Order: sequence, then C-alpha cells, then structure tokens
Amino acid sequence: MDHEPFLQLTWGVLAINFISVFIPFVGLIGAMISLWGYGIGATELVVMGVMYLVSGLGITVGYHRLFTHRAFEATPALQAVLAISGATAVQGPLLQWVAVHRRHHRYSDHHGDPHSPKTLGSNVGAIMRGFWHAHLGWLFVRNVPDLAGYVKDLRRNPLLMQIDRLFVVWVALGLLIPAALGGWLTGTYAGAIRGFLWGGLVRVLLVSHVTWSINSVCHLWGSRPYPTRDLSRNNVLFGWLGLGEGWHNNHHAYPTSARHGLKWWQFDVSYLLIRACEKLGWAWNVHGPEIVVDSGQPHPAD
Ligand SMILES: [Zn+2]
Ligand SMILES: [Zn+2]
Repeated sequence: MDHEPFLQLTWGVLAINFISVFIPFVGLIGAMISLWGYGIGATELVVMGVMYLVSGLGITVGYHRLFTHRAFEATPALQAVLAISGATAVQGPLLQWVAVHRRHHRYSDHHGDPHSPKTLGSNVGAIMRGFWHAHLGWLFVRNVPDLAGYVKDLRRNPLLMQIDRLFVVWVALGLLIPAALGGWLTGTYAGAIRGFLWGGLVRVLLVSHVTWSINSVCHLWGSRPYPTRDLSRNNVLFGWLGLGEGWHNNHHAYPTSARHGLKWWQFDVSYLLIRACEKLGWAWNVHGPEIVVDSGQPHPAD
C-alpha cells in the first residue's frame, strides 16, 4: 500500500479546507436564490434530511466513536460503510480527522489543542476570537506538527487506508447521489439541481457547522456536571442537532464510552444506532461510561 495519508497540514491541505468551507457557502446562496420562484418542497427536505443523517452519523458513529475512540468494535463491512459515510461530510480524509481529534483529546484546551476557544482574556472580544478560532479559524492554521504518530493503528488497516485514499470519490458520490435522487423523484433536471444544492452543498454546510459547534459552542456554553481538566460542556441544542455529540462534557469525562447522552433525557441517536448494530451482530464490545481515561474525576452527585 503506497498511499500516504494527509497528516501534515501543508498549504495544499489548507487550500482544500478553504474550498470545503467556501463552496458549500456558495451553494447556500444558490439554494436561497432557487427559493425565489421554486420554493422548497418535500423532495428537497427529504433528500437533505437523509443525507444529513448518513453523513452526520458517519462522522459521529464512524469517524468519532469507532475510529477515534474505539468505543466499540465492528465488522469490516460496517467499518467500511461508516468510513465512507463519514467522508461524504467533507471534513477531511479519515486518518487526518482522527489524528486531529485525538490531539484535541490529548491537549484539551491546553497548549497543543488544535481547536480550543480558550484565550487569555474573558471580555466579549476575547471570547468571540476564541469562538471563531475553535469553530472555523483553526482549519486555516498550519502550526500543528506532523500528526502521523496519532494514527499508527489505522495505518495498519488496509481497508481503512484504501477508503482514506479514495476520499475524493466519496465526496463526489455524496454530492451526486442527492442530485440523482432529486432528479429521479421529480423527473426533472431542475429537481436534480435542487437535490444537488439542498442535499449536497447545503447539507455539507449544515453538518460541518454542527460538527464545528461541538468544538466551539460545546467548549464555551453549557453545563459541566463533570469537572474535567478542559472546558467541555453539555449543550442541549447540540445534543440534538449533533446527533448526541453535544453531551460533550460527558464525552470528555468518558472518552471511550459509545454512549454520550448519559441521562434518560440526553437524547443520543448515535448511540441508538450503535445499539441497533450490536443487536444485528455487526457491532460488539460496546463500551459504557465505566472506563475513565481522562484525568477529570466524575462528579459524585452525577
Ligand atoms: Zn472537545
Ligand atoms: Zn472525542
């Protein structure tokens, strides 16, 4: 296998990041213009919703809980489906995403964290600068050292290396499938274009901003039932929008837990999917919150 994953944040990688942020934004403007005259119908909403769940769960269940934290084990077929689904979110090839996120957990809100909102000041300006960096600005910063040491385990997996190598193919499929669905369901070329705009570009924009909000919002605003050594917080809004990832203080307290929503009211659809896969025999060894890796101590009252 001669594929070399993109584990150094070169100018080329930063340029790709810029394109990944900019093009969906242009797509949003196009979709807004299409509202005038066409509106938005059930077809666009359904295609966008399905693609949101496929790419979003690919990130939360696949990229994050399975490949970054090894919160459960999965059959090769399920690994492939999750890795490919995650790639359609256009947040980078698998190994790069995992390496950056493992570094985030190692240095959480301390020197070396690729995307911490922590700044020297507590005034509104300092907080907003921190928010911007943690949300989006970090994608355009080069001062992260070589990430190769973080993903030695994934490099030994030929299946995952192959999926990592074909990242561009999965991105293209993630944009073409909603276009095909839109065209097929409406029987028109205009329907295909609207499927591409809403289910492709706008959906990428939505999933990306929700993921980035876990890094920004969920390290600034929300409750902290566990006194972890970082600033992580449980945020109800992103608990829902983020498919369970917004229970982020729980996650920093128990990083290897497949379950992030620990209370009955903390809805965690990603965990429900993992449990469904377990029932079907596709996933096993599903970790609960009993294994504490972080140095933060669980709050005795929780
Ligand atoms: Zn975090
Ligand atoms: Zn994590």
